[in-house]
Amino acid sequence: PPGALLAVQGAGLGVPLVGGGWAEYVNLDHAASAPCLTTVAEHVARLLPYSASVHRGAGFASQVCTTLYEGARRDVAQFVGARDGDLTVFTRNTTDAVNLLARCLPAADVAGGVVVFDVEHHANLLPWRARAGYRTVAARSTLAESLAALEAELRAAPTALLAVTGASNVTGETPPLARLARLAHRAGARIFVDAAQLAPHRRLDMAADDVDYLAFSGHKLYAPFGAGVLVGRADWLDAAPPYLAGGGAVREVSTDAVDWATGAARHEAGTPNLAGATAIAAACRTLAALPPGAWERHEAGLRARLLDGLDGLDGVVIHRIWSDPETIPNSTGGRRTGDGAWQDAVGVVTFSLPGHDPARVSAYLSAEHGIGVRAGRFCAHPLLARLGAPGGALRASIGVGTTAHHIDRLIAAVARYLRVGPGWGYALRDGQWQP
Ligand code: PMP
Repeated sequence: PPGALLAVQGAGLGVPLVGGGWAEYVNLDHAASAPCLTTVAEHVARLLPYSASVHRGAGFASQVCTTLYEGARRDVAQFVGARDGDLTVFTRNTTDAVNLLARCLPAADVAGGVVVFDVEHHANLLPWRARAGYRTVAARSTLAESLAALEAELRAAPTALLAVTGASNVTGETPPLARLARLAHRAGARIFVDAAQLAPHRRLDMAADDVDYLAFSGHKLYAPFGAGVLVGRADWLDAAPPYLAGGGAVREVSTDAVDWATGAARHEAGTPNLAGATAIAAACRTLAALPPGAWERHEAGLRARLLDGLDGLDGVVIHRIWSDPETIPNSTGGRRTGDGAWQDAVGVVTFSLPGHDPARVSAYLSAEHGIGVRAGRFCAHPLLARLGAPGGALRASIGVGTTAHHIDRLIAAVARYLRVGPGWGYALRDGQWQP
């Protein structure tokens, strides 16, 4: 559609409205899962005739698949700015990648605990909890105070790892990764970045920011469901027990002994998800080929339009974690946009309509306006409580297929809800919204 940055699947989809008629679907839920890029869908269609097992056959199709799979690793490593020697392990998603890394940490009595802020997605909280020495740092109302509290906590006890989000899945805010990496390293710890929300929005550069580990999911990066990645330093991954035991993760097996492989293969037992891995690589190539700054400018313009529009409505509260925008440039945190403004968040905006149930508002937006947003607590219950929305909120999130028209439709629909409320009484019956 005019105004979109890249072509995605499902653009222009028509959806039925509860009051009758149809509307163009407005997808403002990219933070949950993004539609496939058209280039990714084309890649998958070209791949399918070759379906054959990676690393497990000498036939031509198997050779093609093995070459594509290993090539996908290199494309992903390049996309995230990995260092020579870093491993790129394909996983099922970000959650799987975090659990994998959690199993690979050296013993707590040798290496220390894990430290996290309390603003994280559950995927970057729960896998660390069982670790001895696990500590959470309560985020303060300013980033500066939060970083000071974090630094104190890192020094308070031995720490193996600082695990942080690259971009909040609730507010879109992007903490300064290079500074966080310095804090962690000065305290003798490593840093893991949950880039599930960052990778779809910013160029990543692990080497420049000195990030040790990073993970993201294909389905949020305009690729299909079912594949994600963990990228990072090889030593811990090579020393840990294999994540899954089985074929492909070994060098040699006898009836009573196993010589496990090192490298990515050690943690990828079983037939690999070739379509998933190469689709991620296709998405990485398409996004990396955009002119520098094009995506950031497109998104910054839409985000500003959304914030201005919501701000102009009485009865809307926009949520932020930190009141002091980050103003120190680094490759993935605060960044100057085309018009010179500092941008400290990606295109993810969470807001409340006090006095109104977010689930009901989102049902209204869908049923009466064909607009998809997310309502709930976004797998970040501690953060929603901190933001004063323990019962949940609404989240609108922007993607490369989003246009100004989509933003305007959302603002007009929220304005209408606030002015006149739902036009229809309706209920969810038999899986359908019925008047
Ligand atoms: N971290 C963040 C910041 C997320 O937004 C999400 C997905 N909502 C995840 C981790 C988990 O991703 P997945 O469900 O693909 O494992």
